[in-house]
Amino acid sequence: MTNQAMATKHGTGGIDEHSLRVDLAAAFRLAAHFDWHESVGNHFSAAVSEDGQQFLLNPKGSHFSTICASELIRLHAEDDSVLEKEKAPDSSAWCVHGSLHRTLPHARVILHCHPPYGTALCALKNPALLPIDGNTARFYGRLAIDLDYGGISDQRQEGARLAKKMDGHIAMMMGNHGVSVVGDTVAEAFELLYFLERASKTMVLAYSTGQPLNTMSPELAEKTARGWDAYRFMATDHFAHLKAMLDRTDPTYRD
Ligand SMILES: [Zn+2]
Repeated sequence: MTNQAMATKHGTGGIDEHSLRVDLAAAFRLAAHFDWHESVGNHFSAAVSEDGQQFLLNPKGSHFSTICASELIRLHAEDDSVLEKEKAPDSSAWCVHGSLHRTLPHARVILHCHPPYGTALCALKNPALLPIDGNTARFYGRLAIDLDYGGISDQRQEGARLAKKMDGHIAMMMGNHGVSVVGDTVAEAFELLYFLERASKTMVLAYSTGQPLNTMSPELAEKTARGWDAYRFMATDHFAHLKAMLDRTDPTYRD
């Protein structure tokens, strides 16, 4: 293996960039599978350097259903000049993901999209997930809410504002917009997105009945949220199953 190939395989500082690329590509394919994608928009990113400043992002104009590991672009959060280059990222993705990776180096994987139920909830005056079942309570006290949407992000300050709101949380309901999640690994972030959309669906269905919600007490909601800590293994197992499904149907995401 050449030095360059070694560097690609192992990334920077022991991070296995090749595996990270494969997992992130799988996340795009799976988001399309679950119908969380939207045309050729929306963006997922993953930090590939120890300091969190270099990250992988989907290229502008790609469809989630065909993204491959090798086509993910590698960017540096401090290098604004990428916007003038041939393979420039989408400017709104740069503003949001660039700012998040620049400001929150511990945010290793950031998934942002407009899934149907999460986005429907974000269209309400109060997009909070109320603790009404185990999935909604999972996010209790861990969910950021942003109600200051400023239009399609094209300014650094929009990204900086979102980064400030996201800090210390695992997910964010972005009012009038969509959702974002943060995880240590692609599997963990994907699982959060999966459960955020499940929880949002439950909220929308519960609201649609017009009946009063049976909201948990703060103590029960917090206990339920903490109870999920023992089930973190589910993220890895679930993602492995989903990747196996892709491998059976279309393994080209690994290319
Ligand atoms: Zn968006």
